Amino acid sequence: MPEANPSSPFYQALRQALAQRGTSVSDICPDDDQVARRVLHDYGAMFVGGQNILPPPVCVFTSEDQVSQFQQAAGRVAATTGDAAIELQPAAMQALLRAREIARAEGLDITPRDGAEAARRDYADTVRLWNSRFLPALDHWKNVGRLTEAQVDRLRALPIQSQVSEVLELETKGIFFSKDLSKSVLYSIAAPGTSQHIAMLAFDANEFLDARVREILAAEGWFQTVLSDLPHFTFLGLSESELHGRGLKPVEANGQKFWIPDVG
Ligand SMILES: [Zn+2]
Repeated sequence: MPEANPSSPFYQALRQALAQRGTSVSDICPDDDQVARRVLHDYGAMFVGGQNILPPPVCVFTSEDQVSQFQQAAGRVAATTGDAAIELQPAAMQALLRAREIARAEGLDITPRDGAEAARRDYADTVRLWNSRFLPALDHWKNVGRLTEAQVDRLRALPIQSQVSEVLELETKGIFFSKDLSKSVLYSIAAPGTSQHIAMLAFDANEFLDARVREILAAEGWFQTVLSDLPHFTFLGLSESELHGRGLKPVEANGQKFWIPDVG
C-alpha cells in the first residue's frame, strides 16, 4: 500500500484546498483506512480542483443515500449528446459542451463512451461495475489454481468494502482483477463508492485517441488524471499551468498525458 507522505506536493495542496472548504484530509479519508488512502492517491486529483466544482465529502461513499445527498448538493445538469443523456456538475457540463462545440467546428467530435454511463453514475452503478470485474477474476484465478474454492467462496461472501481491501492485497501478489487480469482493478474500474463519475466530474470520451481532442478538452479544464484509464477525463476547472501548483505531476502513458497526484 502506498505511504502517505505529508510533505509531498499533493498533500500540501490538498490540505490547503480542503482547509478552504472547511474540511481536512482525515475528515475525507481516515488515516488508517488503506483503501481510502489508495483511492485518494489514484483518483484524488478532483479534490484539488477549482472553486467552481464540489468534490465529494469523502474518499469512499458507502451508501446510495450518501451519494444522492452529495449529488443534490453539487447540482447536476443534463445534456443529450448523440443518443445518450449524460449528467455532470454544472461547471463540468458547461466546459464539456464548449469543448464539443470547438471540436465540431474543426470537423471533430466529443461523444460519450457507453452511453449515459460515460458521465454521472450512482452508487449501484459502481457496485455493478465492481462485480463485473471481481466475479470473473475470482473464477479465473480459481481455474488456474492461484485461489482455492474455499478462498473464492469466502471472498464472494465478504461485505463489499472488505472485498476491495482483500483484492488490493491479492494484487500485491500479482493476482490482478482488471478486465484483462494484467493490472490493478482500480485502473480498470473504480472501487465501489469511489468513482470520479459519482462526483459527476468525469467523462469517458470515444475520441480519447485524438491528440487534438485531448488538447481541446484540456483547454476547457478537462484533464486525464487516472493513470492508464485511457478514455477517462476529469474536470478540474483549472488551466494546465495551474496543475503543478495543485500538487499534480504529468506522467505519460500510451502516448497520453496524465496529471496525477504527486505523493512521492
Ligand atoms: Zn471514466
